[in-house]
Amino acid sequence: MTLDEDDSRIAADQLRNISSWKNQGPVAEYETQFARWSGLQFAFAFASGREALSACISALGLLPGDEVILPGYTCVVVPNAFHYAGIKTVYSDIELDTYGLDGSKIEEKITPNTRAVLLHHMYGLVSRDYEQILALAKRRHLKVIEDCAQATGSEYKGLKSGCRGDVAFYSSEQSKILNTIQGGMAGTGDANIAQRINDLRDQMSDPNPDWVKMLLQCVILNYHRFKHPQRWITGPLARFRYGRKEMVSTTPEEEKGVRPSYYGRKMASPVAVLGLNQLKKIDRYNEIRRQQAKRWDEWCESRKYKKPVVLKDSVPVYLRYPVLVEPDKKRNTAWATKELGVEVGVWFIGHIHPTDRSVTNCPNADRAVQQCINLPTLGA
Ligand SMILES: *Cc1c(COP(=O)(O)O)cnc(C)c1O
Repeated sequence: MTLDEDDSRIAADQLRNISSWKNQGPVAEYETQFARWSGLQFAFAFASGREALSACISALGLLPGDEVILPGYTCVVVPNAFHYAGIKTVYSDIELDTYGLDGSKIEEKITPNTRAVLLHHMYGLVSRDYEQILALAKRRHLKVIEDCAQATGSEYKGLKSGCRGDVAFYSSEQSKILNTIQGGMAGTGDANIAQRINDLRDQMSDPNPDWVKMLLQCVILNYHRFKHPQRWITGPLARFRYGRKEMVSTTPEEEKGVRPSYYGRKMASPVAVLGLNQLKKIDRYNEIRRQQAKRWDEWCESRKYKKPVVLKDSVPVYLRYPVLVEPDKKRNTAWATKELGVEVGVWFIGHIHPTDRSVTNCPNADRAVQQCINLPTLGA
């Protein structure tokens, strides 16, 4: 929903100038601007958030046999990145205020092999136990990885999310805050880790040019289908021209935990050009999201549903607006179209999205899987 006419024009220009893709200048520029905007000292662009996470894992020096503690409510590509590196994933329960890791339950999961903890800022909300988890990790000498895939731009005490852990990763997949159809960023404030991420990235390959073409066509297609003022005409026309160029974010192999053959790619230059343009608009769009969230707050109050908790001194970005509803209202969401005029999201039909896989001993995550729906904060 953040793709506008200018993004569509950029994609068309890039498709006409394939010879310019060799120019890596935009990637460096996007990294510099992203770092400045997000308060990071160092940022490195990758083809996706999960590939950025894999670079973070290597750069932290995590080794086969090490253990990491993860929220028992996450995306399958997150545990996959650890499994690809031979690291054991241990799930810990979330809280139901911000759907982040419950800081009080982590300690019992720590073993002599535990090296790291991954915390996330889910739905654009700053994790309720952010400081508690950082303090615990420091005390127990664990590395902290921040999953900012859904919370790009959120802030806590005047500093953006992603700046407090050892490393952070971000996503610009098409359902996220910044949209380049697919894309990711790794960030850190540690010069040694940055050097290692940089070295790793230098050894990686560029994405397949056909994949980049498809991504650019997808920008044009999505603009004409979802945003163009005459989309009822331009949508079908663009579909006729480009076919059904849906980009699959997570392949069936990835859902089963298999590492794709192409995995481990840099960001392509045209994607960085799109990222630079998205970055110019992100603050404006995030403000619109916060305004829409106020309307969902009112709806929650009127229906006696619990509102998501905004941590004191935090500025959320509300990628989506999560609400716990009755389980049958999550199973069948037809009511929402009638009552709210929007299509609700049911992300996390299992603990390990988008699979229906479950994890044990995470009762709050169980409840979120049964009851948490999410409402749109930009368009329907
Ligand atoms: C989207 C997402 C990712 C993965 O990002 P990609 O860019 O799709 O690889 C990781 N964690 C969370 C919480 C996400 O929402």
